Amino acid sequence: MAILITGGAGYIGSHTMVEFLTAGRELVVVDNFMNSKPESLRRVKEITGKDFRFYEVDLLDRDKLEKVFLENEIEACIHFAGLKAVGESCEKPLLYYHNNITGTLNLCELLAKYGAKRIVFSSSATVYGKPASVPITEDFPTSTTNPYGETKLMIERILADLVKADPEWSVSVLRYFNPIGAHPSGRIGEDPQGIPNNLLPYVSQVATGRREFLSIFGDDYATHDGTGVRDYIHVVDLARAHLSAIEYAEKTTGIDYFNIGTGVGYSVLDIVHAYETATGAKVPYRIAPRRPGDIDECYANPEKAAKVLGWRAEYGLEEMCRHAYGWQSQNPNGYDK
Ligand code: NAD
Ligand code: UDP
Repeated sequence: MAILITGGAGYIGSHTMVEFLTAGRELVVVDNFMNSKPESLRRVKEITGKDFRFYEVDLLDRDKLEKVFLENEIEACIHFAGLKAVGESCEKPLLYYHNNITGTLNLCELLAKYGAKRIVFSSSATVYGKPASVPITEDFPTSTTNPYGETKLMIERILADLVKADPEWSVSVLRYFNPIGAHPSGRIGEDPQGIPNNLLPYVSQVATGRREFLSIFGDDYATHDGTGVRDYIHVVDLARAHLSAIEYAEKTTGIDYFNIGTGVGYSVLDIVHAYETATGAKVPYRIAPRRPGDIDECYANPEKAAKVLGWRAEYGLEEMCRHAYGWQSQNPNGYDK
């Protein structure tokens, strides 16, 4: 019996594959490489010395996706595949709704048809909108401000309706906070195309000389130093959370929501300073205007995941920065040679 991983070639998927293969789990992986490269999968094999079945399939192609179910005994799915850039989702809403929602509908139909009614879904802290307070618990109200966030919220609702209609389903919704860092080997990591939108890949590119300076988006937020505060979590810790979630899904039915963060908030300036200390590299920065839509503070109360899943983040900020730097300095152009 195998676990189906959608979007396995991506940033979080590739790190999760390493954890599952190392734990001896059998994997079947699907990706269409719309935001990733085959090289990441080759490196997963290199790190683990383990093999897996891979299908280059678009989730929108239901017939091709069904072939994966016909050729393998799938017992559960971890569903990473989706588009994730907030700005792009505002420019191309139909692309985002179609890819993320229709892809998930096709997947769930096939999971149900082939008796694999267990899914771990990649949601995001973005579903909490602008939280009334921090730390955030799972029962906070949800809302979003952009099409990307809407797709996450809509998929959460679709999954909740699925469980209502058919109690055999087991659904774990993991609401990720800010995944950063890379595998300690430096062989896999985040490989954004073009100019990075997110803080850490940008900082790494500045630290390694690919970009001149970091623009800090606003220093007048209601935080300890005026710059935005987030809950950064090491991608390997995040990957491990999926192993705990699958083990939990194997024993339970129904739907459950989990915050996957450390519970600690760091500001942009905290990150810059920690990165410099951890790596010895310089990260020149300039203060720039606020980025529209950004919030002051966002960090998790991760106690539910600790209590129910038995999972807790283990890596600290120093390791997150050091591993991000290791990946970036060994692979200055990402997976492109
Ligand atoms: P990623 O873009 O690196 O990985 C997603 C993978 O899915 C890519 O390899 C892409 O090619 C694939 N994919 C997309 N649409 C597909 C389709 N229709 N058919 C087949 N494959 C498809 O992103 P990531 O950072 O690894 O994120 C994984 C998931 O976690 C996403 O759903 C994302 O929304 C969610 N998430 C990410 C973050 C983050 O900061 N990285 C935060 C919260 C939630
Ligand atoms: N940020 C920044 N400069 C950048 C990218 C991000 O100052 O080039 C800030 C951003 O305003 C936010 C924090 O870094 O306060 C994290 O941003 P990111 O886009 O990584 O995550 P998200 O905003 O989605 O939580």
